[in-house]
Amino acid sequence: MRPPRSNSYRDAWCGELTAAREGETVHVAGWVHRRRDHGGLIFVDLRDRSGLVQLVFHPESAPGAHAAAERLRPEHVLSATGKVVRREAGNVNPNLPTGEIEIDVATAEPLAESETPPFPVDEDGPVDEMLRLRHRVLDLRRAGMRDALILRHTIVRAMRDYLNAHDFLDLETPILTRSTPEGARDFLVPSRMNPGEFYALPQSPQLFKQLLMMAGFERYYQIARCFRDEDLRADRQPEFTQLDLEMAFVEEDDVIGAIEGLMARVFEDAGFPVTAPPPWPRLSYDEAMLRFGSDRPDTRFGLELCDLGAELAGTEFKVFASVLEAGGVIRGLNAGTREVPRSELDALTEHVRRYGAGGLVWAFVQEDGTWRSPTAKFLSGEQVGAVTRKLAGTPGDLLLIVADKPQVAATALGELRLELARRFDLVPAGRHDVLWVVDFPMFEYDEAEQRWNALHHPFTAPTGSFEDPGALRSRAYDIVLDGTEIGGGSIRINRPEVQRQVFQALGMGEEEAQSRFGFLLDALRYGAPPHGGLALGIDRIAAILAGRDSIRDVMAFPKTASGSDPLTGAPAAVGGGQLAELGLKVTAPPRGG
Ligand code: ASP
Repeated sequence: MRPPRSNSYRDAWCGELTAAREGETVHVAGWVHRRRDHGGLIFVDLRDRSGLVQLVFHPESAPGAHAAAERLRPEHVLSATGKVVRREAGNVNPNLPTGEIEIDVATAEPLAESETPPFPVDEDGPVDEMLRLRHRVLDLRRAGMRDALILRHTIVRAMRDYLNAHDFLDLETPILTRSTPEGARDFLVPSRMNPGEFYALPQSPQLFKQLLMMAGFERYYQIARCFRDEDLRADRQPEFTQLDLEMAFVEEDDVIGAIEGLMARVFEDAGFPVTAPPPWPRLSYDEAMLRFGSDRPDTRFGLELCDLGAELAGTEFKVFASVLEAGGVIRGLNAGTREVPRSELDALTEHVRRYGAGGLVWAFVQEDGTWRSPTAKFLSGEQVGAVTRKLAGTPGDLLLIVADKPQVAATALGELRLELARRFDLVPAGRHDVLWVVDFPMFEYDEAEQRWNALHHPFTAPTGSFEDPGALRSRAYDIVLDGTEIGGGSIRINRPEVQRQVFQALGMGEEEAQSRFGFLLDALRYGAPPHGGLALGIDRIAAILAGRDSIRDVMAFPKTASGSDPLTGAPAAVGGGQLAELGLKVTAPPRGG
């Protein structure tokens, strides 16, 4: 860090003082990290953003400062002046960048006191998360959170630097807007000036960035806050941050190439070693689903899925035969040589059931090539041999098989694969894989609603014929890091008639399309360039690069799983006057009431 401007508080960063400054008088300020009273000498570890430095208070040479130090407690704030001196050999701390020196304090000025914190700030041990969120200021003082947020800054800075150097314009789009369909529920904001009408908070700047391309800005980016009113299962937040970007006159390779350059720069600046430099592999959606049972495959370990349809064709085993007859599939994986007790096989069966599969067939390959499996007696020796060969089974291997509808079998086995990796610790330490998934279906069928939905969003350019919506592909691409989708985007529709066809396929009538997206359809009528873009999830990227399980650990002020903020108490009831002004009346009972 650059030295701070000298003022009445300080002229140096605590964490940057080394033996090179020996003999100099320095002026530092910060928080009392730790204090030790050695019955005479008092030692204080002083902390600022840059790190720690040790202060020594001598009762004889600086009685005033020493008296002040007697009253210091953890998290008190002070400013101190003194000479940089070498520590005695026995006191050198090799774990601290400033561990060779200390400051022999001449004068000290206490600036603020602190009550005893509800948890220790000077260590990074586990603390109940509600308590951390309630006292977020203290939590953020801890080294782990400080480092995570600094890393987040490094990531965002790398993104901005890269894009600024590549002719992208940083432009803002509205927060108070109309609903954009990214597939989640909108947060609504009542309009006081237009009673009964609402703004929606953007689920993403999708349509505005497309309008910016149509307006001729060619290359845009924004570190954009997005809002989605989802149930916050898994690791989601009602508001999150994307790097949103869009480019005109581009094809897939242009956007993918730009993002590869950008992410390579992010990984480098963040000191995050990925397994291979770009270009990163591209997998089609179909291949990803077939081989990994996921559209965000984790390729850091094996256990790939295999289709066993040919090997089991004509089987008399009812469970398999009926699935094949109904157009289903039989797929399996080789879990490797493992001693897995019955109780664990039951747990794995439970796991695939959670993802909709009817059951799990398990088999241990024996020395003579036959199976130890409750299913063995239903299959011919030939079928057992063929399946074993297809799964490259050798004696001792555990084979796991699911028969179901294609999507269910894929997802269940894909999740089983991940579960096995967790149970048997299969991800090699330090390995980090990046890849692209391309060639997505344009639509997916919603059985419950009996209609087609866009897999990405309805502005993605389709390829193929609208006669069979299920066979249409889209020009979408997702980027995946270590089995997590960190971003996605597409080449967009730039012709109004195609946009209309997509709306139609989604069951949206002409009138509804015009009323919701008339502004887009209008803009498309006046010459829209071919364009495309992508959005990267900054919270997720920061969490992975910081090695954190939760995105809450890379957000300064996140919300809990129920969408509340224990720090400010949001969301909160508002007064009747405010509601009346908005023309609103609350009928739901209050929270907890
Ligand atoms: N708007 C999309 C999203 O938020 C990303 C994109 O298509 O650029 O996921």
